[in-house]
Amino acid sequence: MLSHGMEGALNDQLKQELFSEHLYLAMAAYCDASSLPGFSRWLEIQAGEEHDHAMRFFRFIQDRGGRVRLQASPQPPLEFASPLEVFEQALAHEREITSMIDQIYVQAGADGDHASQAFLQGFITEQVEEERTASQIVDTLRMAGDSKTALLMLDRELAQRGAAAVALGSPPA
Ligand code: FE
Repeated sequence: MLSHGMEGALNDQLKQELFSEHLYLAMAAYCDASSLPGFSRWLEIQAGEEHDHAMRFFRFIQDRGGRVRLQASPQPPLEFASPLEVFEQALAHEREITSMIDQIYVQAGADGDHASQAFLQGFITEQVEEERTASQIVDTLRMAGDSKTALLMLDRELAQRGAAAVALGSPPA
């Protein structure tokens, strides 16, 4: 059974994961409108991953006898200055998510809630990858600078996300 405090913290994280889904969809829509279909596809797949994260929290709260309380999500931005700004924001966002998950993990430890700690460990590991990926794309975009050629090459590369998994018949990752 979840403590009252953990139930609240997990519900807040569920809200954050749903906001992440919306944020990445907003970024995907901006990139599509900017004629960057590869960036858009990559971000759309990322939004799908965030939905999966949200559902993991949704089910975990229920599995532990807690009650899911959905909360209003802030409206994500419509416009971004550039693809670089998109990924700088994505990186800043992922860093924020990492610190939130770290805080819930500490709270679970203080509660002696080992099941929540075990559940959160998967997210802690995953955040390393999320930050690394966003950071690599930021670095590549900074190197590309004003080069349209480099931007279009990166767009083609990002379009490949999920292609191998689809070919093998498994869900895109
Ligand atoms: Fe997430």
